[in-house]
Amino acid sequence: MKLRFQCPKCEAQNDSSNDESDKTIHCNSCSWESSASQSDEYLSCLVCGGRDLWRQKDFPQAIGLSCVAAGAILSLTAWYYYRPILAIGILLTFAALDIILFAVMPDVLVCYRCGARHSGGDISEHPTFDHQVAERYRQEKMRLEEAARTTARSKSASG
Ligand SMILES: [Zn+2]
Ligand SMILES: [Zn+2]
Repeated sequence: MKLRFQCPKCEAQNDSSNDESDKTIHCNSCSWESSASQSDEYLSCLVCGGRDLWRQKDFPQAIGLSCVAAGAILSLTAWYYYRPILAIGILLTFAALDIILFAVMPDVLVCYRCGARHSGGDISEHPTFDHQVAERYRQEKMRLEEAARTTARSKSASG
């Protein structure tokens, strides 16, 4: 199983693959270790223990975009030289390429709370992105930040 996450302590990007015997996740740049309990590895996030994860294609957007851009440029070039059939053919070819790439890409599970990406294993049954859940986590984060600010303020006021 592979995991890509941002360390909650030092914010370094980590790529790790752990086998079944080693269930602890740790940061390569600092001493941070995950304390999230692992009863079922796909029910909760391995980094923060968050219960909600959404499933998406592990498809780098940059590849998809450059694929579309290359298709558009080539097709425009064909239009310029009065080759409309070729232009449409190029567009269709690149569109098909995009679809094929998307289909063969594996799924990843992304944590709503910390954004850690979990890949590998059978996750095809997992629900996809849910705006309501995302909104709940966004508000939770805002509340936590507000609480941290209040604590900092009261500390500086008393000290
Ligand atoms: Zn770290
Ligand atoms: Zn998480």
